[in-house]
Amino acid sequence: MLSVEEALAQILALAQPLATEQVTLAEALGRVLAADLVAPLAMPPFANSSMDGYAVRAGDLAGATAASPVSLRLIGEVPAGGVFAGAVMPGTTVRIFTGAPLPDGADAVLEQELTAPGPVAASVAMQATAAPGRNVRVAGSDVALGQRLLARGSVIHAPEVAMAAAVGAASLAVTRRPRVAVIATGDELVAPGQPLGPGQIYNSNAPLLAAAVVEAGGVPVILPVARDRADDLRARFAEAQAADLVLTSGGVSVGDYDLVRQIMDEMGGINFWRVNVRPGKPLAFGRLGAVPLLGLPGNPASSAVTFELFARPFIRALLGALPPTRPTITVRLAMAIPRGDRRHYVRAQLRYEDGTVLATPTGDQGSHRIASLLGADALVIIAEGAGSIAAGTAVPALLLR
Ligand code: AMP
Ligand code: MG
Repeated sequence: MLSVEEALAQILALAQPLATEQVTLAEALGRVLAADLVAPLAMPPFANSSMDGYAVRAGDLAGATAASPVSLRLIGEVPAGGVFAGAVMPGTTVRIFTGAPLPDGADAVLEQELTAPGPVAASVAMQATAAPGRNVRVAGSDVALGQRLLARGSVIHAPEVAMAAAVGAASLAVTRRPRVAVIATGDELVAPGQPLGPGQIYNSNAPLLAAAVVEAGGVPVILPVARDRADDLRARFAEAQAADLVLTSGGVSVGDYDLVRQIMDEMGGINFWRVNVRPGKPLAFGRLGAVPLLGLPGNPASSAVTFELFARPFIRALLGALPPTRPTITVRLAMAIPRGDRRHYVRAQLRYEDGTVLATPTGDQGSHRIASLLGADALVIIAEGAGSIAAGTAVPALLLR
């Protein structure tokens, strides 16, 4: 049986980033950059003041103190957005506001709080010295022309939007969102909102997977439920071939009604089946024609966990996200956890306490329990083996949020 790492490597080996499209900044949030953003201008584009105060020649303020201020002649003012037409000559000063360009001749700004009205009209008393450069933001000190500001493969959050806007970019190159077909299988499934007959349950996996696809950055297309008959699966699979990825749930184990692998084999092929993981062992990976297909197990927690471990990284790789996987951190177990013959991904809530992150399992980890997914911040990774791992032990955990 494949390990999680081997299975993930096989899946990711088949994921090529999709085509690039240009989106406005308003549409860019959460998308993955398809190209580096290189600074088309320096920032700040001109030397400017970081304070409200007075633009001065630093040399003019030698020896200035509150008790013995230096008086300079006020020759004008420059607000943000303005430009002072003249120059600060020796013995003069210009009132300046935050963000305004430093006038020619000036090399420092003395903040307003260190000044007072001068002894005569149109003069200002400077009550402190200023080293050259004081309160001046030098042109190009934040961003140099040609500098790489945003890297291909990174996710666009609010700061990335701000950086693009700050250098004048109105749009960004991002990867197209993958279309992901979602097919739940099972004779017992009923759509929420419909009455339940005897032996029936609601189809929760299709909504689960569609929501998880959206969170991963894809566009879900929920197809009608495939009943546990070969012709029904064939019909659904034929409809799914326009997708970039097909996800199925259920019907992939060893029961008489588990037909997903048979029809996959018929209409495409199977790359592997079964992974040494709990929950989620009967996972199948293959293709329908040329479209990759992940056959996820039917139990809801198995579907959700295998989506996280395999489907989400595949979708992130189609998006060109670097890395395609979520971060792993070290946590401490709040309670002992038994080990078994399979790698176990324990749904757990995290909390910070006494300098460490403590992980508490979300109750019974049965693969049929949707409740085990609720409130889970992470999947704590318990290696296979005998005995149990003691409370307080440091273990890796895959962060889910
Ligand atoms: P299967 O792998 O098809 O045998 O399904 C395993 C278990 O998951 C069974 O108890 C199914 O009823 C349940 N199951 C399968 N598909 C879904 C679904 N879409 N929503 C909720 N439970 C499901
Ligand atoms: Mg089934």
